[in-house]
Amino acid sequence: MIGENITVRDSDEVHAEEDGDAHGAGDPHLWLSPLSFTQALPSLTAAINKATGLSIDEAAAIGRLTQLDNEINEVISSVSSCVLLSGHDEMGYFADRYGCTVIGAIIPSFSTTSEATAKQIADLKMLAESNNVKAVFTGLGTPAEVSEQLASELGIAAVSLSTHYLNGAANYREFMLNLADQIAEALR
Ligand SMILES: [Zn+2]
Repeated sequence: MIGENITVRDSDEVHAEEDGDAHGAGDPHLWLSPLSFTQALPSLTAAINKATGLSIDEAAAIGRLTQLDNEINEVISSVSSCVLLSGHDEMGYFADRYGCTVIGAIIPSFSTTSEATAKQIADLKMLAESNNVKAVFTGLGTPAEVSEQLASELGIAAVSLSTHYLNGAANYREFMLNLADQIAEALR
């Protein structure tokens, strides 16, 4: 039997997310918000500098991450309503930081191995309709036939995001800006 452990988020969870704390310890996708790194940087650079004899400039690194954060914010601000339906439950940090709302995920768990069932997809479809979702974002581990079927039933696009790999981007900055651009373009 597939998908026994799949649930679509209910509205309470969506509200909890708006409060900023729905993910926390269980969500590994910290890298989707550049500012997440700034907290870890002082101890990280100290440890690297001590171990290698290098002198990595912590302030410069924080400056670059802050600038990137501002750039992403500008891109996402161009979207009037940033409502996200994602492949798996990966957009929590991004959504919190950039004022988006995650209404659900095709695979709403932190694993990428579960499969979705018809009933749960039907629930997700209703949720997407009532939230006027403009695109289904998919990616790592999401069965393409499920996301494409859902998108086609909703009459919207299925957009594959690279949230875990650079996917041709030269560096982290480019990776994050590509992601923000893709999201903004699909939601405009
Ligand atoms: Zn993931």
